[in-house]
Amino acid sequence: MKISSKKFKDIMIKISGAIEKNVEFLTDLDSKIGDGDHGVNMAKGFRKIKKDLQGYRGDNIGQMLILSGKVLLNEIGGAMGPLYGGGFVKAGTALNGREYLDKDGIYILFSSLLNSIKELGGAEVGDKTMVDTLEPFVDKYSREIKTSEMKESFKSALTKAEEGMMSTKDMVSRVGRSSRLFERSRGHIDVGAASSYLILESFYNSIKDLKE
Ligand code: ADP
Ligand code: MG
Repeated sequence: MKISSKKFKDIMIKISGAIEKNVEFLTDLDSKIGDGDHGVNMAKGFRKIKKDLQGYRGDNIGQMLILSGKVLLNEIGGAMGPLYGGGFVKAGTALNGREYLDKDGIYILFSSLLNSIKELGGAEVGDKTMVDTLEPFVDKYSREIKTSEMKESFKSALTKAEEGMMSTKDMVSRVGRSSRLFERSRGHIDVGAASSYLILESFYNSIKDLKE
C-alpha cells in the first residue's frame, strides 16, 4: 500500500479537522495541570497548515511536512511550536522528494518526529509528555512492519499509543510546565500525549479504508 501525495495532503487536512473538533477537550486537559493554551494553539497552527496545504500545488510530501512544521514553529506559542514544529521539519527533511509513502516512509515520518522531540525536549518515556504516546507507537510499528502490512501495523501501534497516552494519567510530570506541580500533576492525562494520540488516530482513520 502506498499513500500518494494527494492522499497525504488530505490526511493532514483531516488532522487539522480533528484538532479543531477537540479544542475544548485539549483546553480542559491543559487547564487541569497547565495553562490551558494547548487546544487553542494547536487549532491555530493546524488551521494555518490546512490553508497553506490547500494552496500547495506540488507533490513533494517532504515539502508538505516542512511547510507544516514551519507554520507550527512560526505561528504557535507554548512548548508545542518547537516540539511538533521541529519534528515535522525533521520528518519532512528525511522524506524530501517523496511523492508517496510506503510502510517504511510512515516509519521515517513518526520516528523522525519522535526523535526530534526527544532531542529538543529531553523527555523520556515516563516523564508524562507526548513521548509517552509516540514512543510506544513507533516501537510497535517498527516491529510490526517486518511481518505485516501498513494498515495492520498502524492499527496495532495505535493501540500502544492509546495505552501510552492513558498511562500518563498516573504519572507525576517531570518536564515542562506541569512538572512544577510535582505530586499534584498526578491524576490527569497529559495534554501533549492526548494531542499526539489525536494526530495518530486521525491519520489511521484516513488510511484504514485504503486498498492494499
Ligand atoms: P506550554 O506548557 O508551554 O503551555 P503546551 O500547553 O502547548 O505548552 O504543551 C504542553 C505539552 O507539551 C505537555 O503536555 C507535554 O506533553 C509537552 N511538553 C512540554 N515540555 C516537553 C518536553 N521537554 N519534551 C516533550 N514534551 C514536552
Ligand atoms: Mg499549555
